[in-house]
Amino acid sequence: MTRPALLSLDEALPQLLAHAKPLSGVHRVSTFEADGRVLAQEVMSALQVPPQDNSSMDGYAVRTADCQLAGVLLRVTQRIPAGSQGSPLGQGEAARIFTGAPIPEGADAVVMQEDCELVEPSCVKVLKPMLAGQWIRRSGEDVTRGDKVLAHGDRLNPASLGLAASIGLAHLQVAARPRVALFSTGDELVMPGDVAPEDMAAGAIYNSNRFFLRAMLQRLGCEVTDLGIVPDQREATVQALRDASAGHDLILTSGGVSVGEEDHIKPAVQALGTLNLWQLAIKPGKPFAYGQVNRPDLSAGACHFMGLPGNPVSSFITFLLLVRPFVLALQGVKNTDIIRTELTAHFDWPRADKRREFLRVKRNAQGGLDLFANQSSGVLTSAVWGDGVVDNPAGQTIAKGDTVHFISFAEWLS
Ligand code: AMP
Ligand code: MG
Repeated sequence: MTRPALLSLDEALPQLLAHAKPLSGVHRVSTFEADGRVLAQEVMSALQVPPQDNSSMDGYAVRTADCQLAGVLLRVTQRIPAGSQGSPLGQGEAARIFTGAPIPEGADAVVMQEDCELVEPSCVKVLKPMLAGQWIRRSGEDVTRGDKVLAHGDRLNPASLGLAASIGLAHLQVAARPRVALFSTGDELVMPGDVAPEDMAAGAIYNSNRFFLRAMLQRLGCEVTDLGIVPDQREATVQALRDASAGHDLILTSGGVSVGEEDHIKPAVQALGTLNLWQLAIKPGKPFAYGQVNRPDLSAGACHFMGLPGNPVSSFITFLLLVRPFVLALQGVKNTDIIRTELTAHFDWPRADKRREFLRVKRNAQGGLDLFANQSSGVLTSAVWGDGVVDNPAGQTIAKGDTVHFISFAEWLS
C-alpha cells in the first residue's frame, strides 16, 4: 500500500476555510452579555467622546492670558463638580473645578490644585505660569462623531464592550453561535466519574479529549451538545452522525480518523455525505477529516463535519490550527491568524522532522524558551507544563540561541 502524500497546513487551511461561510442569523444581545461574541454590525459613533472639553485634574480653570507670570492672584467665582455645567469665566477669575467637569466658556487651561495656593476662600494664587490647554481633555479626543469604532466581524472583548457603552449602546447585533455536536469514538474510553481509577478494566483509558474540546469550543463562542462516546461500530457511528446533523452546524469528533479496521468515521461520513481525509504534514497531528453530512431533512442542507485524531495532544493542536479558525469564520471573523512572536530557543532540537512541528515550550524568566522533554502526541502534560508552542518549519533543526516562532496558548485559546 502506498502512503498518501502529505498535505501542508498552508494548503489545507484555505481549502478548509473556503467551506466556512458565515452562519445566517443575527442576534440582538445586551452589551453586558456580548463578551466573546462576534459583531454582526458596524458600530458608528453618534457622538463625541468625551462629549465636551473637560478637566483631567482637580484644580482651577483659568484664562492663561491672566497667568503669564508666577504668583498671580485670581478671584474664585464658581465651583464646577463633575456632572454640572459652569458659567462663562471673566477676566481675572478662576473656577474651582474637579476631574471630568466641563471647562467653562472663556477658560483655556486648568491649574492642578498642587500648583496653587488658596489665599482666602475666594482668592487663589497660581504658583506657575500656565500654558493654554494644560490639563484639559478635548472633546472627541477618544471618539469623533461619525467614526467607525468597531467593525463587522470584530470579536468583542471587555474593552470593546466598554467602548460600545461609551457611545451609548446598550445592545449589539452579534452573529449566531455555531451549534456544535461533539462526540468521541473509541471502545477503550470511559468517563471520569463512571469508573474509579482502581476499577479500570485492562485496556481502558479515561476520555480526556472530550473535556478540552468542549471547553475550547465554548471559549470560541460555540453552543456545545455533548453526545458522549460512540462505540467503534459502523452502524452506531452512522446513526450518531445522522442524528447530530439535524440540529447542528458542525459535528466534531475525536479518534477513528486513521484508516485502520477500527476507524469507522470515514465510511460512516461517506455513507451520509462527503468526506476528505487529509494526511497533514504536521506533528503532532496528521490525520484530519473535513466533510459534510446531509441532514435527514434534505432541504435543511448539510452539516459540517470535522474529525480530529484521537491522541490527546494531536487533537488539541489540530483543534487550534484548524477548528478554531473554522468556528470563528462561521461567526464572521475575517482575520483568524494568530501572532507568532520571535523568541530565543534555550534548548537544542537536533533532529529535524519532515513534518512541520509544534513543540510544547515554556517561556522562562530570561526571555527564552524551554522545551518539554517528552514531545509525544499522547503526553497531555506537555500542554499543561507549556505555555505555548514553537512553530518549527519542516526539516528544521534548532540550536540553543536560535530565533524561533512562538505561539502563546493564552492567546490561541482566547
Ligand atoms: P485513534 O485516533 O482512534 O486511533 O486513537 C489514537 C489514540 O488516541 C489511541 O491511543 C486512543 O486510545 C487515544 N484516544 C482516542 N480518543 C481519546 C480520547 N477521547 N481521550 C483520550 N485518548 C483518546
Ligand atoms: Mg480509536
